[in-house]
Amino acid sequence: MCGIVGYIGGKEVYPILIDGLKRLEYRGYDSSGVAVFCANVPHIYKVKGKISDLERFIGDNPKKGTLGIGHTRWATHGEPNDINAHPHISMKGKFVIVHNGIIENYATLKKKLVNRGYTFKSETDTEVLANLIEYIYEFGKVSATDAVRFALNKVQGAYGIAVICTDECDKLIVARNSSPLVIGVGEKEFYVGSDATPFVQYTNNVIYLDNENMAVLTRNGKVDIKTIKNDVIKPEIQTVDLNFDEIEKGGYSHFMLKEIYEQPKSISDTIRGRVDLTHNSIVLGGLMPVMSKIMNARRIIIVGCGTSWHAGIMGEYLFEEYSRIPVEVEYASEFRYRDPVINSDDVVIAISQSGETADTLAAVKLAKEKGATVIGICNVVGSSISRETHAGVYTHAGPEIGVASTKAFTAQVMVLAMMALSIGKAKYNIAPEMYMSLLNELITVPQKIEEFLEKPDQVKKIAELYKNSPNFIYLGRGCYYPIALEGALKLKEISYIHATGYPAAEMKHGPIALIDNKMPVVVIAANRRGYDKIVNNVQEVKARKGIIIAIVREGDETISKMADHVIEVPKFTTAIGALITIIPLQLLSYYIAVMRGCNVDQPRNLAKSVTVE
Ligand code: GLU
Repeated sequence: MCGIVGYIGGKEVYPILIDGLKRLEYRGYDSSGVAVFCANVPHIYKVKGKISDLERFIGDNPKKGTLGIGHTRWATHGEPNDINAHPHISMKGKFVIVHNGIIENYATLKKKLVNRGYTFKSETDTEVLANLIEYIYEFGKVSATDAVRFALNKVQGAYGIAVICTDECDKLIVARNSSPLVIGVGEKEFYVGSDATPFVQYTNNVIYLDNENMAVLTRNGKVDIKTIKNDVIKPEIQTVDLNFDEIEKGGYSHFMLKEIYEQPKSISDTIRGRVDLTHNSIVLGGLMPVMSKIMNARRIIIVGCGTSWHAGIMGEYLFEEYSRIPVEVEYASEFRYRDPVINSDDVVIAISQSGETADTLAAVKLAKEKGATVIGICNVVGSSISRETHAGVYTHAGPEIGVASTKAFTAQVMVLAMMALSIGKAKYNIAPEMYMSLLNELITVPQKIEEFLEKPDQVKKIAELYKNSPNFIYLGRGCYYPIALEGALKLKEISYIHATGYPAAEMKHGPIALIDNKMPVVVIAANRRGYDKIVNNVQEVKARKGIIIAIVREGDETISKMADHVIEVPKFTTAIGALITIIPLQLLSYYIAVMRGCNVDQPRNLAKSVTVE
């Protein structure tokens, strides 16, 4: 999820690693570390906290060497601490590794390695990979490169890795699948990075590794690339002429846009290793200890703030539809200051990207005191909420830098959808065929979002037309109501335009008074159930000369003809697919904010993690 650096060549490696890690700081991280090879012996330094903490820990006389790797970790498996920080070294000290990503089948592999006598120091999935490589190397008597390759054929999941074998210190081995990895090519030297930022000051000749490819970088300047199936790939050296600022945002102008575009990947990471299509099942390991409590829950109370609260309302629709458990969604700040009636057969779900939101944390403590079972849905591993709750599911969306949440929201909804489906199945509330189609829809969400993101111009044109409107109304029915709320919030947050989200039918009880020929009304009109009703709501707006911007499913006929502007999203059939409709709304607010000259990534008055009440 975060950052990798590496170097092999003739220069002093420590400053390259430390400066490289500093340049990767923008990606967000919770701990960092380096391994410097001095006379073929690895010296590993790693600590929780900032890179300045690492520097302080290492002191003024770092080991000298010309081979090394470094890492900024954003924990996924095991909380952020010194031991879980990377680099990791294999049990017998033969392999040193840094890894970004998630090894999905780490638990199965770990069990096998334990049976063969391996012990583990950390809780990470990465150490499992380090030990697996070493086991294959020793047991199979193969080269370090082959050991890495064979091991990668055994792992499922996402990885960007840099590996050094202490017996073969003339090479640096790197590989990737779904997590980025870039090689910088110098004069008889190679740099490695999650992107080119750590080394653009040294070289702009780069090789972008493809998925399931690995490269062996040798001290004499030789690079060999192969697929993990052992097919030879011809290295293609490209020139990067992006500056540091452009690279750190992945070529996007803002972190928010980068994060909007990251959603196909971040959602895949959320469902990674949890949806098992061969057995048609969803496995949420973190919920195992409380599964019977959830199955027998009298009701579920979801608490959150802002965007997380909107995800909670999506959750309400999903839980009620698929799990048939009554759900209440509460603002955490309101919940904690009432004297809520909570029983021991209630399940409270607390949602927070940072896991540090003060109001949500207080709500968690209160619910626990009152005897409820409390579950956390957080993005940051080891955060306060994840530690305070009885059980939980991490969203694994990766660090979110833009203050206005985008990928964390879609990840939260996906977690809630997986929970609703697995409970619904276990309670026999979903017919097997329906369950299959829901599961299929769930796994195709990333691809549909990717498809939509290829055509941003339809949204950009609308942004251009209405960027100066002082007000917007967002309407939706059913599960599109929270989408309307979230769309309106995004616009408020970053463009400072007043926007209100409403259940479409509620409009006539008040907000309809606002409608005139200057009022843009964004209608999320992708419903199948209740489509006629949303047609009526669109007509009510048109009768008052309001401007309709309709979000519809591809192929829609009726509303598309009535609306002033239409944004089509790829077809989907269930409430889970409905999540796709938030993407045009994220983009609309983004473009409007940019056109109005607003500070998109750091909007005024807002903080990323609200740790005050
Ligand atoms: N899954 C690994 C861990 O938890 C790597 C996390 C990362 O990408 O930083 O340590």
